[in-house]
Amino acid sequence: MIGQITRHASLQTLEGVGPKISEKLEKIGLLTYSDILFHLPLRYVNRTKVTAIKDINANHYAVIEGFIESNAVVFGRKRSFIFKVTDNTGSIVVRLFRFSNSQKNQLKTGSHIRCFGTAQKGSSGLEFYHPEYILGAVEKLPPLDRTLSPIYPSTSGISQNKLRQISKLVFEHLKPISSQISQFEDLKFLHNPPADVDLKSLELGINPIQKKLALEELTAFQIGFLTQRQTIKNFISPPIKRNLKFEEIFLKNLEFQMTNAQHRVVSEIATDISSSKPMLRLIQGDVGSGKTVVAAFCALQLLANNKQIALMAPTEILAEQHRQNFVKWLAPFDYKVELLSGKIKGTNRTKINQKLENGSINVIIGTHALFQENVKFHALGLIIIDEQHRFGVGQRLALLKKGFQAQLDTSQLPNQLIMTATPIPRTLAMSAYADLDFSVIDELPPGRKPINTSIISGNRRDQVIRKIKDIILEGNQAYWVCTLIEESDNLEAQAAEVISAELKLALPELSIGLIHGRLKAKEKIDIINKFKKKEVSLLVATTVIEVGIDAPNATVMIIENAERLGLSQLHQLRGRVGRGDVESFCILMYDKLSTIGQKRMQIMRETNDGFKIAEADLELRGAGEILGTRQTGDIFFKIAELPRDASLLTQAKKDAKNISDNDPGYGKELVRNWLSKAEDFSLA
Ligand code: ADP
Ligand code: MG
Repeated sequence: MIGQITRHASLQTLEGVGPKISEKLEKIGLLTYSDILFHLPLRYVNRTKVTAIKDINANHYAVIEGFIESNAVVFGRKRSFIFKVTDNTGSIVVRLFRFSNSQKNQLKTGSHIRCFGTAQKGSSGLEFYHPEYILGAVEKLPPLDRTLSPIYPSTSGISQNKLRQISKLVFEHLKPISSQISQFEDLKFLHNPPADVDLKSLELGINPIQKKLALEELTAFQIGFLTQRQTIKNFISPPIKRNLKFEEIFLKNLEFQMTNAQHRVVSEIATDISSSKPMLRLIQGDVGSGKTVVAAFCALQLLANNKQIALMAPTEILAEQHRQNFVKWLAPFDYKVELLSGKIKGTNRTKINQKLENGSINVIIGTHALFQENVKFHALGLIIIDEQHRFGVGQRLALLKKGFQAQLDTSQLPNQLIMTATPIPRTLAMSAYADLDFSVIDELPPGRKPINTSIISGNRRDQVIRKIKDIILEGNQAYWVCTLIEESDNLEAQAAEVISAELKLALPELSIGLIHGRLKAKEKIDIINKFKKKEVSLLVATTVIEVGIDAPNATVMIIENAERLGLSQLHQLRGRVGRGDVESFCILMYDKLSTIGQKRMQIMRETNDGFKIAEADLELRGAGEILGTRQTGDIFFKIAELPRDASLLTQAKKDAKNISDNDPGYGKELVRNWLSKAEDFSLA
């Protein structure tokens, strides 16, 4: 490395991090050394010792070493390549569903192999599926790890090994300046804990080092919130008067009547925007409670005052769906609604940018590209962020700065409306979103029938398929959702492809569509539109459809391996049906259910109420289940986790106040460390 070492050095300076890799790292927020320090493992595996094959337990991670005794390609429900690994205590089958010819040829009998993985019950007893492995003579294998090995949150195209390698390099490079980084040793411990650490407490997040850092992180957020609140108070936002004529036209044009809850939130918003301070309000409402129309109504108020609106959604499908709704709901008025996504490039992009700047586009809807690109507005009056839990707190705060930069008059700040379906108990919400005003839509539109949920063993899959056929031939539409344990778009897409092919074979009379994360945005939108238009009656999908998709005619939701998903995710998915006034069904299929898994399924069967489900979720987690909000993305803290660390919030608030008052420089540093994306709250 050339020049002075700094924790803010770009990861591109590291060996083995080229432009391709760094682009992917950037996708998950990793740009600098510091980002890696704070990119903490989700869990750990023990690769410090070899386990005798006879001692392997189901669902426990283990390293084994032995010789390949036999191998074969077998044809079951799916074609697979299997080989038997034998040590002097026993043997175990390893199974690969995807394999290349060269892989098959390398894994020949007599070879010595080391495998890393979690054995599961399979057709031949315990089996390893797709373990990581190294082939080589006993003396040629690399030494085993000396510390526990981290499993990091990652993205497709970045392997765990790559992340481990990068993390190792970063710690090596920063070692000379470790005394300048107060958390260095603690972070090092969390990245690579000693093999004899109490793994249980680490995985539960109650190790003292974790608690210490969690407190620091929560403090950093509170400082960020404080700074933001204070800053916002210094800005103005021109008071907006209600335009009753426009409201009347809007309501008349709606295809439904707004609920009381929706009207209440609308008037809370109206009060906010009628003041000369910028609005900063969170709307929480269960899946399907109708948050979008409330946002549109609010948008209208600003539009009527010649302001522009920017709406940000977490996915392009959702952005397009919002565009369609806004166009429909604003049809009686003369406003121009446009979509802006990362995919729109070249002259189209330039045109949109020009029109935003000269004010001829009134509503712009897009993904986070909206704020990342250098978009200038003529008169931005309102930022709407949908499904805010998808973005994380830091990102949300960063957006405000963009909104600010968009203004010509720098004493003004746009209003902000933030929407989420994640039901967080109110007290927690107040602490986690301390800087926001808070509204709840606690009523579903009338006529919604509860979704009828049944729990069915995967053994009865064929029966389910036959039943689906009948239901669809009666004119219904269904989603068939495939889940995977590994968080990889690639594998998930493959699994969905396999299942859709299989369903097409079994149900040739149905029109079956497929949607997954690997499709291009336009392809996704096309297929969703076909589904909405009933040209597709069965939509095979990965969890990409989890957020926001609204196809009110769909009445059946099938989720395979539902046991792999947390309660809130199941609730979100199930919320894709039950949107019309026809009775809807949800079939949760499972392979194996743990006791807690059973409880989760039971709760899903018993209630459709997001709050009840969230409460039950808390209780079950209290019982020791780690659902990992960081995996399912509730609030993107790096180490703290709510509600687990809720008890730290009071202290964090006190500390934050203290630090802000007495040592603002340190406060800034904390914010910078923990909220890398938001870096600077001062808006200056
Ligand atoms: P969410 O709160 O989950 O974002 P949406 O805004 O997508 O929910 O609304 C879900 C569906 O309910 C949409 O089809 C929407 O048009 C419809 N909807 C919203 N409000 C009402 C209402 N008051 N009466 C009937 N349907 C409504
Ligand atoms: Mg929504």
